[in-house]
Amino acid sequence: MKIVPVVPGPHEHLTSTTTQAILRIQSRILGFAREFLMERGFVELLPPIIGPVTDPGIRGAKQVDVDYYGHRYKLMSSAFVYKQSALLAFDRIFYVAPNVRLEPLETASTSRHLAEFHQLDLEMAEVSREEVMDLAEALLKHMVRAMLAHCEPQLAELGRDPRAFDGLLGTPFARLPHAAAVSQLIAGGHPQNPGAEIDWVAERILSEQSSGPIFLTDYPKGSRCFLERESPDRPQILRTFDCLMPEGYGEVISGGERESHYPTLITRMRETGENPSKYGWYLEEVKKGIPASAGFGLGIERFTRYLTGAEHIWQTSAFPKVPGVFSA
Ligand code: AMP
Ligand code: MG
Repeated sequence: MKIVPVVPGPHEHLTSTTTQAILRIQSRILGFAREFLMERGFVELLPPIIGPVTDPGIRGAKQVDVDYYGHRYKLMSSAFVYKQSALLAFDRIFYVAPNVRLEPLETASTSRHLAEFHQLDLEMAEVSREEVMDLAEALLKHMVRAMLAHCEPQLAELGRDPRAFDGLLGTPFARLPHAAAVSQLIAGGHPQNPGAEIDWVAERILSEQSSGPIFLTDYPKGSRCFLERESPDRPQILRTFDCLMPEGYGEVISGGERESHYPTLITRMRETGENPSKYGWYLEEVKKGIPASAGFGLGIERFTRYLTGAEHIWQTSAFPKVPGVFSA
């Protein structure tokens, strides 16, 4: 059994030259991403932090309730429903958004889970999954190229070899449908459930076997929440994608096309055991009409971990919240 990591206190953590190099790279890559997105017509919105509903599809993690003048509100586990609705104002938006998820205790030792993390969360009106995947690939390549050009001292301090990014920069990202990934995993001796999310061990196996990033596409319907659009020509298959980094770092992005057709959304909610009455304001907007869209969320701490070669994800946060660990 893996042991829960020992996280240093704020003084030791923040005065370490390793932490400083990691956080400086993180700050720079956020700047590079903003520059890239704004040049392409995106508008950055300030993220909502609380609301009556939040993302239900958080894979075994618990949401956090807050008392909002006598109403039960949630801390955002992701700004999902807000992203879709924000397209009423602009057709390309993004947030750098904090997310709170009380992840299961066993995730404390995965090196990939925090109870508080951030997503670069973007959404585009009237585009297909393929267009948004192309944008994700171009964005990650831009962030890595700019980091290599501007963060050489920090990479040297961390001992991160710039050649680690040759696979990411050199070729188009691989694209692997979920069903093909399942067959590959089962053939290699890993018992991956074909109807579910790729589990954490499987994610690591796929990631370790690849020399560059992999887009995993076409998740089966039961594995994801009602917002993910079902393929019109391939029932039971969702128009989703994840992006895994190589070297065992695993998933950094989840995205896809969203369901915006009111009656279909209600059906999908019922199928996934969600009560539509919980989604009052959001369903009102969908009923009036919101744009069809696609988008994704990039986990900032996860991506920083990959870029910097950090052993643990908590190293990429100034004030890390490791699941179950009491902290600043
Ligand atoms: P999800 O909607 O669960 O796929 O989350 C979107 C992205 O956020 C993932 O691809 C990860 O990069 C990141 N992420 C999700 N959960 C966590 C977590 N507990 N800790 C750190 N990053 C996370
Ligand atoms: Mg995901």
